Amino acid sequence: MTGEFDLIQRIRARAGTRDDVVLGIGDDAALLAPPPGMQLAVATDTLNSGVHFPPETAARDIGWKALAVNLSDLAAMGATPAWCSLSLSMPQADDAWLDDFIDGFMALAAMHDVALIGGDTTRGPLSICVNVMGLIEPGRALRRDGAQVGDDIWVSGTLGDAAAALSLWQSDKPMPAELRERLNRPTPRVALGCALAGIATACIDVSDGLLADIGHVVAASGVGAEVDLDVLPASPRLRALAADDAEALRRWQATGGDDYELCFTASPAQTQRVIEAGIASGTAVTRVGCIKAAPGVRALQGDDEWQPVSTGHEHFSI
Ligand code: ADP
Ligand code: MG
Repeated sequence: MTGEFDLIQRIRARAGTRDDVVLGIGDDAALLAPPPGMQLAVATDTLNSGVHFPPETAARDIGWKALAVNLSDLAAMGATPAWCSLSLSMPQADDAWLDDFIDGFMALAAMHDVALIGGDTTRGPLSICVNVMGLIEPGRALRRDGAQVGDDIWVSGTLGDAAAALSLWQSDKPMPAELRERLNRPTPRVALGCALAGIATACIDVSDGLLADIGHVVAASGVGAEVDLDVLPASPRLRALAADDAEALRRWQATGGDDYELCFTASPAQTQRVIEAGIASGTAVTRVGCIKAAPGVRALQGDDEWQPVSTGHEHFSI
């Protein structure tokens, strides 16, 4: 029968490495050699079955998503990912499930040259906690508290696909493959985040919902925001799905979470450099609003203010 150490061995065989990993999986702690003068950016995110992904999600997709949501946090800081650890709680020692999970996890890790340097393996309800570490030059991190009155607000990619997929799943309707892919295999905008370091004044990844996440930025920065809902970028698949339901489109785009796009602010004087950062990283960027002095986030539809039922996802809210 497979035990904890066999599982760890299966993971260890696939962990990848880097020159700056002095000691990886196998000892009481890993040893890393960060380049002198760089700061470490460190983030953790947990995925719980039934809370962060539908329980029937494929193991490969869970593995991908567990790392993707963490890399997205590093992207939102403008940091370059380097190492990660993986705390895995699973109901039973299932080799096939674990191999598929590691396939998805390590496929994304390899794309970003991230080494898996340790973790923990326990029995319990399916839950995955990943810790990522990245590198950034001192003073260049994209913090939430740097937005200035007069800055433009930008988003990467398109918004609303993941929320639409989740809503179809919750109402037992078939999910078009493109939307399912966006929910299960989000693309962390790592190259864009790095390209924006030193250009953007503030940045956050859209995990809870655009209006809620902009709310975090303006609260940290002591400013407010106006967002133009009419210009939010949507994928062709989402536009087709919501062709007869403008309100659903609005809700998915403005308040739906799980897109893992970047939302950032930049001075209008930096517009050209923002556009170049988008081109250099192969990521679309769209200006969707501006930073104002009055606190709060106003979502505008033409000249009217749109009042959402909720601005985004929050754990422990009723
Ligand atoms: P300890 O009892 O010292 O915490 P463990 O038996 O939990 O040691 O882990 C042994 C080694 O395997 C450690 O180096 C640990 O970091 C690594 N490890 C355990 N589980 C995982 C995992 N899920 N992913 C990556 N490394 C893991
Ligand atoms: Mg342990």
